[in-house]
This record gives sequence, structure tokens and C-alpha cells, in this order.
Amino acid sequence: MKISIIGGGIGGLTLALMLKARGMAVQVFESAAQVRPLGVGINVQPSAIVELAALGLLPQLDALGVRTAEVCYFNRHGQRIWSEPRGLAAGYRVPQFSIHRGELQMLLMQTALQRLGPQAVSCGQEAVAVDPDSASVTLLDRDSGQTRVERADAVISADGIHSAVRRQFYPHEGPPRYSGRVLWRATTVGKPFLTGASMVMAGHADQKLVTYPISRRHADQGESLINWIAELRVPGDTPPKSDWNKEVALDVFAGPFEAWRWDWLDVPALFRGASTYYEFPMVDRDPLPRWTHGRVTLLGDAGHPMYPIGSNGATQAILDARALVDQIAGSDVAGLPAALQRYQDDRLPKTARIVMANRAQGPDHVMQVFEERAPEGFKQVHDVASQAELEDIARGYKQIVGLDIETVNARAESLGLV
Ligand SMILES: Cc1cc2nc3c(=O)[nH]c(=O)nc-3n(C[C@H](O)[C@H](O)[C@H](O)COP(=O)(O)OP(=O)(O)OC[C@H]3O[C@@H](n4cnc5c(N)ncnc54)[C@H](O)[C@@H]3O)c2cc1C
Repeated sequence: MKISIIGGGIGGLTLALMLKARGMAVQVFESAAQVRPLGVGINVQPSAIVELAALGLLPQLDALGVRTAEVCYFNRHGQRIWSEPRGLAAGYRVPQFSIHRGELQMLLMQTALQRLGPQAVSCGQEAVAVDPDSASVTLLDRDSGQTRVERADAVISADGIHSAVRRQFYPHEGPPRYSGRVLWRATTVGKPFLTGASMVMAGHADQKLVTYPISRRHADQGESLINWIAELRVPGDTPPKSDWNKEVALDVFAGPFEAWRWDWLDVPALFRGASTYYEFPMVDRDPLPRWTHGRVTLLGDAGHPMYPIGSNGATQAILDARALVDQIAGSDVAGLPAALQRYQDDRLPKTARIVMANRAQGPDHVMQVFEERAPEGFKQVHDVASQAELEDIARGYKQIVGLDIETVNARAESLGLV
């Protein structure tokens, strides 16, 4: 059985490694001429880390990233609203990781090159069309400008938020759906804050900071490589271009954060400490009625781009890969269209629920509750919201995203990881 994968991002490369581990032939087509460590930080939940650990990648993840110890929510005055342990501290048998997106992608790429062989990963190959009946991909060689057709038994489109395959199936969908909010992302080398492994959300629905350390190497030297995202509601309906690599100047967004100087973090200083600032609109797409068309299906951001809330972008792409591999491995070539259909029936509703929960701010909603009830801050957190209400907000989202500890731990045990 041979599977073509379009896109050598986190979803596509994880899928390639999982298929190879089950003895299948795989070919990855990536449009970038060369994969470079692009992006800033991402967070990967234990539910996905267990799958990367099953691929033998836990030591490498530990060498690169930071084991997330806690998630904390603050108001815009820097007062702590809610915090809860994460990863091992929360009782999972595998950690949660905060890691540089590009370093994770490079780790997956190098592992794929070693395990699948260099011929299995072709860069500079842009998929321009697929045929769901013959499982073929038309590829544009970006160097020569020539096109050619590659056939397999199934094609998995893991080509991200601007997926060409999704566009082929849904030609009238248009650009991603804009939330009215824009994100500015960067990294700064600085002093560790809070536990040195805390993930922090601060502010409210119209102005937010997300920040967490992402580098083991820096932590070993007593400092932090601090990933941060500044988010603002921006007037007007026209989003900036959804280009992950678009750079802007600091003064485009820093002004409203000038007063955010707290005893545990000086936000304006954090911003000034970075050298490059990336702008990306907060966008997603409506859930689709179908991902699977004959021998072709969608995976990761191609199928379900979502707001970056609750650490789900990479996590859900990895969980898609796991579900898809289970279906493919249990099928013969003739049964692949039905296997891809079963994968869709499992994963599409689950990820659609997360897309919609993230539109309602997911767990970050707790900060908006405090902004509305106590805009000038509070003396005691429970003067504003009871413990039961705070616990309800956190628990509700975890149920939607599949972060249930027993399920993840049972999976870790079944894989012999603990
Ligand atoms: C350059 C870049 C930087 C990012 N930075 C961040 C970040 O800082 N923070 C964050 O939360 N998320 C970031 N993301 C998104 C994040 O990686 C995804 O949300 C998540 O990891 C799911 O991954 P994915 O594999 O589905 O998609 P992606 O990671 O987007 O990977 C898609 C891959 O497909 C390739 N591709 C696209 N079109 C084609 C085509 N027609 N033919 C062949 N290949 C194609 C792309 O080059 C890319 O390598 C970034 C994505 C990219 C591409």
C-alpha cells in the first residue's frame, strides 16, 4: 500500500512516521524548496505527546522543549485569576511540551529522512490538484516550473490553512474567516518568570497576552527563551494577510500594552527584547461537511483551521494522524475509501466542536468574565467568581478537546510507555 502526503508540516510528517512504523510506503510532497525552522512557539498537549512518544521521540522533545508545568490566567492588572497544573504535574503519565514550532518540524523532518529515506520526502513540490478516484496528485516542481502526476493508493492533504486540495473540493469557500483580532508573535531571551515553565494568558477578549518559555537549552543556562503573542481587537473588516512569515514593526501593536508592567513580568520590556515581530490575523474556517472524497482526505489545519486557543493546532493534527493511521492499517487497498470515511466520521465532529469552542474563547473566557465583573481588579478572586464557576469553565473545555487524564494514561500504558 502506498500513501501520498501533501505537506511536510507537523501533521503531514507525523503521519508519515506513523505510517512507516506500520510498514507502509509513504511519499511526502512539500511545497517549500527547503524546510527551515519557521514560526515561534507552540504547545503540544499530553494527548498528542503520547503519540510522539510512541514514535520514540520523547528524548528529543525533552532536549528541545520545556515541560509545561502549569497554565495560569491573569487579568490585565497582572492579578492571578486561575491556575492549574499541566502535564506530569496534573497526573498525566506523559508531559505537555512548550516548544519552538520550527524546531519540532525540523525534528520530525530529520526523523522522517532517517526512517523513510531521503527519496520519500520531496521538497519544492507544490500540489496543484488531486484526483479522488485514482489517488493521484498533480505536482508543480517549483524549480523547473514543470508539472507531473504521482499515483498512490490514497492521498492525504496536510497542506495547512491555505490548503490547495480543500480549495479544489470547496472552490467557493473564499479566504479564512476573520475574527476581528490580530496576533503579533515573537520570542525574547529573558529571566524565567513564575515557575520557569508556566504558560500564561493575561487580559481579556479585546487585548490579550499569551506567553511561555520554549527552550530547554536556554533553561539549562538559567534563562528563558520566552515565546509571546500579543493580541488586539482591530477595527475594520479587512484582516492582514494570513502569511505566517509576515514581519512588522513593534510600534504597530505595542502601545496598548504600555501599562502592563507587573511585579512578575514587564510586558513592554518583554516586547522590546525581541528582534522580529510576526503578524498573523486570528482566523479560522467553518467546519466542513466532508473531508473525504474517494481516496483523498484532509488532515490538520487543511481540515480544521482553528483559533490558536487552548493549545490545539499541532495537538489536533497529531491526533488526526493517529486516527487515520489506525483506519488505514486496518484496511486493504480496495477498502481505503471506506477507511478514510471512518476517519472523517471520527475526527470531523470532534475538531468541529473545538473550532466552535475556540470562537467562544475556550478556557480564555474566564479572563473576559473578570474584565466585565471587575475591570479595575479585585482584592480576592472569589469576590468575583466562585471556585465552582472557575472549575466549570476549565473542565468544560477539557471535555471538548479530549484532555481527559484517564484516556491519555490508558493510551500511554497500552503503548508500554509507562
Ligand atoms: C511557516 C509556518 C509557521 C507557523 N507558525 C506558527 C506559530 O508560530 N504558532 C502557531 O501556533 N502555529 C503556527 N503555524 C501553524 C501550525 O504549525 C499548525 O496550526 C499546526 O501545527 C497544524 O499543522 P499542519 O501540519 O496541519 O499545518 P502546517 O504546519 O501549516 O503545515 C502545512 C505544510 O504544508 C505545506 N504546503 C502548503 N501548501 C502546499 C501544497 N499545495 N503542496 C505541498 N505542500 C504544501 C506548507 O509549506 C507546510 O509545510 C505555522 C505554520 C507554518 C506553515
